[in-house]
Amino acid sequence: MIEKTAAELSQALSSGEISSVELTQSYLDRINKYNEELNAFITVCEESALAQAKAADEKRANGDASPLLGIPLAHKDIFCTNGVTTTCGSRMLHNFVAPYDATVVENFSAAGAVMLGKTNMDEFAMGSSNETSFFGPVKNPWDTTRVPGGSSGGSAAAVAADLCAMATGTDTGGSIRQPAAFCGITGFKPSYGRVSRWGMIAFASSLDQAGPLSKSAEDAALMTNVMAGLDKKDSTSIDKAVEDYTATLNDSLDGLRIGIPKQHFAEGLTAEVEQGIRDALSEYEKLGATVTEVDLPNNHLSVSAYYVVAPAEASANLSRYDGVRYGYRCENPVDLEDMYKRTRSEGFGDEVKRRILVGTYALSAGYYDAYYRKAQKIRRLIKNDFVEAFREVDVIIGPTSPHTAFELGAKTDPVTMYLEDIYTIAVNLAGLPGISIPAGIANGLPLGMHIVGKDFGEAKILNVAHQFQQHTDWHKQKPNFGQED
Ligand code: GLN
Repeated sequence: MIEKTAAELSQALSSGEISSVELTQSYLDRINKYNEELNAFITVCEESALAQAKAADEKRANGDASPLLGIPLAHKDIFCTNGVTTTCGSRMLHNFVAPYDATVVENFSAAGAVMLGKTNMDEFAMGSSNETSFFGPVKNPWDTTRVPGGSSGGSAAAVAADLCAMATGTDTGGSIRQPAAFCGITGFKPSYGRVSRWGMIAFASSLDQAGPLSKSAEDAALMTNVMAGLDKKDSTSIDKAVEDYTATLNDSLDGLRIGIPKQHFAEGLTAEVEQGIRDALSEYEKLGATVTEVDLPNNHLSVSAYYVVAPAEASANLSRYDGVRYGYRCENPVDLEDMYKRTRSEGFGDEVKRRILVGTYALSAGYYDAYYRKAQKIRRLIKNDFVEAFREVDVIIGPTSPHTAFELGAKTDPVTMYLEDIYTIAVNLAGLPGISIPAGIANGLPLGMHIVGKDFGEAKILNVAHQFQQHTDWHKQKPNFGQED
């Protein structure tokens, strides 16, 4: 049962085949058994999960048939959860108990989903391998000597290893899609503004967006139905009607125009990932789609522009961690300045400090025009590239990552790590929706296909992803890990 999608579990709950309490208990048992090795969860909420499951069973018995009612999920530890520790993967917040729920968390509670716990992540969502977490790295269930990707690696590993039915994540430059690719699951970043950021700890506010990590595109649609919408508490959330993202999943792809960016099939892409994506494109042609090359001429500037914009915004956002208002404070400070300095030196890890330094430098008076303003101009060029490309095609498809999951400890140079997001980062800079779905297995490891849509084209890319999953079964492949149960 635990390997099923949320949509399948929902049916099993409706038919009475299983109760939410039983289901929740099965996941909790699995977490107890396997989390020590995977390190996917930072906090497990056993008691409250069972209480929520019981309430969900009662609601179902009284005729409530909400699709996610009673389905156990995990939240990335970047979302504030009322009364539950919310660490953001950092020593700075290791003991922070949030006094309220993020809107995303509230929306899932209102839909009746059961919160199993909070998942591990790169510190403040800065990273691509989960190795920057204060709570230690997460292991990839396909091969525990490898990383699960990051920064939503705990969520991705938990879904892949069936420690939960579905999970939330956030994506600033690739943090939902790349771990989804590495762990062989579906990961969806909606358009900027589609989902409220309220209560989601800020990294780079003009790029951060929450989204689902799931076992299928259909589940991603069900989750997006719950997550999306205007929120008065987030002025960047959009006042645009929320579609029923499940309604168009079965639309025909006959005549679909797929663009493949030549820049994504160039040097750096491994042969096995390229082969997987090319095979997937043939599958789409069988379904009536046409494939043409598109040009994203400024794509090569995206990582550089991102590493000015994101650290600049992060340096401002992280200034609030001063030892006074939240979380960690150093021991026995001699005066206020010593307290600030030592709190921040001891509370933040190296990668976070690096970003704060870079961001503060880029924003400083004499350098603002040279770096920040220039990066914003490049951001506009990148956006224009997509606008141009989407005149010719309906969706853009390529690899999510140039390779499959790498070994823990393999990438020690920050720039090599930054290049992990070479295919995903431009999508955040342009504010577009993107989804990664499993499209093959190479040397025993899953590889991900990236589908990018137009502004607020979430329904279309979910449809394109779902149709692929109706005709292939890469998304049903499982790691050997934990199969003895
Ligand atoms: N890997 C990128 C970074 O380290 C993106 C992270 C994210 O999307 N949160 O900033």
